[in-house]
Amino acid sequence: MDSASFEKDMTQRNRGHSIWHIIWLKIKKVENTVKKSSTTLKKQMQALGLVLLLWIWPLTDSFIPREISKDVSGTGKAGTEISEADEAGAEVPVRPMVALTFDDGPNAEYTEQLLDGLLKRDVKATFFVIGVNIEKEGNEKIIRRMYEEGHLIGNHTYHHVNLANLSYEDMEREIRMTDDLVREITGEEPFLVRPPFGSFPECAEEEDKLYVKWTVDSGDWSLKNTQEIVRRVVTDVEENDMILMHDCYETSVEAALQIVDILQAEGYEFVTADRLLMD
Ligand SMILES: [Zn+2]
Repeated sequence: MDSASFEKDMTQRNRGHSIWHIIWLKIKKVENTVKKSSTTLKKQMQALGLVLLLWIWPLTDSFIPREISKDVSGTGKAGTEISEADEAGAEVPVRPMVALTFDDGPNAEYTEQLLDGLLKRDVKATFFVIGVNIEKEGNEKIIRRMYEEGHLIGNHTYHHVNLANLSYEDMEREIRMTDDLVREITGEEPFLVRPPFGSFPECAEEEDKLYVKWTVDSGDWSLKNTQEIVRRVVTDVEENDMILMHDCYETSVEAALQIVDILQAEGYEFVTADRLLMD
């Protein structure tokens, strides 16, 4: 039997049977036609049946009606397939990710203003905090708020020092003192470290930490002009960028929120820095 007549025959039959039933019937039919033939010929026809089965396999999804397809897959599995199809069907477009990072806080005057704006926009950011600033009166609650509102807290040393100029012991102390302060407030020790001035210590790779820099420098600390900061960032930014800002200037806070509004409108999703590093 040629493949065209077989397919036509299959199309007529497949309305009431599962694919396995159809194939079985087809093999039986072929066998019946050669019942009285020699054993050799019968074996040849059985082999043909197997070939037909292998040939039909990739086509099952394309011409077997959906309800029969489900029947073939069996109870339970059909449900799984549907949900997968639903997932694939309802494809959520992948949005380009970007991370806002703020160094040198917490700042009693501006950080909460920034947190208010981020909360309103449902944006999570990353804060690389300085130990001495955490210890300033009233700033502990800012760290707690960052944590409770889903922001990521990173370590920016205790005294904001150049780690490359320190002995291993001094460097380790700078990191540990800030780790301890954050852990006492949130129960979690920062995993990310941003070395001040982007100056990496020689032993950075030996530490049980991840040292991160940035990919877009807003220049906010020197520009101190909201519109210029916004313009620089939105011009330079690309997917997966980590934007460096500082939550200790009013212009930086204003610029950061405007940057969020502009980039969200362009389809960007704001994530914490660890998300960029993981993906
Ligand atoms: Zn800094």
